[in-house]
Amino acid sequence: MIFVVYDPVKRARDATLIVCRGDLRKYYRFRPARFYGGIATADCVGCCLRCIFCWSWQQVVRPGVYGKFYSPEAVARKLVNIAFEKGFDKVRISGNEPTLGKEHLLRLLQHIPNNILFILETNGILIGYDETYAGDLAGYKNLYVRVSFKGTTHEEFSAITGSKPEGFGLQLKALENLFRAGVEVQPAAMVSFSSADNISAFKERLAAITHEFKYIETEELMLYRDVEQRLQKAKMKYTTAHFP
Ligand code: SF4
Repeated sequence: MIFVVYDPVKRARDATLIVCRGDLRKYYRFRPARFYGGIATADCVGCCLRCIFCWSWQQVVRPGVYGKFYSPEAVARKLVNIAFEKGFDKVRISGNEPTLGKEHLLRLLQHIPNNILFILETNGILIGYDETYAGDLAGYKNLYVRVSFKGTTHEEFSAITGSKPEGFGLQLKALENLFRAGVEVQPAAMVSFSSADNISAFKERLAAITHEFKYIETEELMLYRDVEQRLQKAKMKYTTAHFP
């Protein structure tokens, strides 16, 4: 293990102080992407976790160095323009964690036209922690949320992120809060560090919220060079062969 255990909610507050100013938020890139059949993507800066497999590690650990501040209106405009130019009907924020800076996110959503779907990819920490967050998101009907679990147990979560294990409970709470608030939401999970038994137990746990959550989207490692180096340094065991 290469990380020092930290509180993800405190880290969210600390990161927010760096990457948000009022309703402005830092971004480092705007681009079309091939995922979801084609989606306009804004890559934000700043996260409350430190996942060992993170592909945007530099922006996560050095949020003060990367990106520029943008208003919600400017980000929405850029996303919609990319979508229009490429013929996409979906937009998203990716890169780091989009839920830092709640005011920015909610105002950005107000500027996304109804005929465009906004996909919110989140680790769920703040939606699990802030009881009002899911209800605020429920007001947007062209919103789909994908909660990305970092492992399938408290222990895996802690090993993957270096965070206190309680953060996994916040991820579960986020899924539950969003479902109860009537937001369209689905779970996804990084399973490269999980045993088949743990994955199975995790699915049962989610199915207790609603049967639909039994069908999770699985994420597996992308072995970029820096990711591989971090895994070797941490001596973490993994597999990329759970699912074809
Ligand atoms: S939650 Fe996402 S952005 Fe944050 S460290 Fe993990 S993989 Fe990277």
